[in-house]
Amino acid sequence: MAADPHIHIDARLGGQAASRAVLASAFGLAADLPPTVRSGCGLEVARAMTSVRPESVTCLTCREFGAEAHERLAAQVESLGVLPGSPLTPAQVHEAAAHHRDLARRFTRG
Ligand SMILES: [Zn+2]
Repeated sequence: MAADPHIHIDARLGGQAASRAVLASAFGLAADLPPTVRSGCGLEVARAMTSVRPESVTCLTCREFGAEAHERLAAQVESLGVLPGSPLTPAQVHEAAAHHRDLARRFTRG
């Protein structure tokens, strides 16, 4: 495999510490991290070659992926929050959605 100098994004956004707790409680996602991940541009890359900081992601396709994924997550969290029996409080929903919208904005910059 050719050396890849780019920093990618984890397609499952697995390293998103802030939303992990929210999503884990909502969906029961496992918390263990595999050494390689599927990137936003469709590659299998080492986790070390991915970043959760929008400013650190240099792969253009992954930046676009990240912006769209976080917009989607923001909307998803908001729709989850209004379901009867939702495990999330309105404050948690607002905070998580704002967090994802902020990340989406940062991915579209630069
Ligand atoms: Zn990429």
